[in-house]
Amino acid sequence: MFLSIKEMELRKIRFDETFAPGEIDFAGEALAQVSGLHAAGVAELLAHSGGEVRIRGRFQVEVTSECDRCLGRARFPLDTSFDLFYRPAAEIAREEEVSIDEGEAEIGFYEGDGLELEDVVREQVLLALPMQRVCSDNCLGICPVCGKNRNESACDCKEAAVDDRWAALRNLTS
Ligand SMILES: [Zn+2]
Ligand SMILES: [Zn+2]
Repeated sequence: MFLSIKEMELRKIRFDETFAPGEIDFAGEALAQVSGLHAAGVAELLAHSGGEVRIRGRFQVEVTSECDRCLGRARFPLDTSFDLFYRPAAEIAREEEVSIDEGEAEIGFYEGDGLELEDVVREQVLLALPMQRVCSDNCLGICPVCGKNRNESACDCKEAAVDDRWAALRNLTS
């Protein structure tokens, strides 16, 4: 869905869209969209702002990725609200260097006649994911010694690995 600046000059654009898996391209991000992505909200052109656009809304989706610890499947049901500001990209060229104030971290830029809602939502999904993608906070990961998934079966080398960690802690404190 295209959020057209020309249309926003006349009225706010309300959106309430559901994107099936595959409609938004997450290729290259090592994740899969496993539910419809529902996004609803409003886009408006801010008065006397030189073309600044505010997009507010909320999305729900479930994505999966590989668990960072055990390489199994990690599921992320997301339900996240957003409140974003976009300035015309032409403005950057004029100002040469853009200093973004604290509290203005949500500023982005758009080129041309507007923004694709899909691009906006895609970026928000990526930002909503945790830095460390794990299947569970309790994930035991893969044994560094024998390579077994420790969530599936305990192995005999488990104690040695724990001992190593304590040794490293002792070195830190001494
Ligand atoms: Zn895991
Ligand atoms: Zn092991």
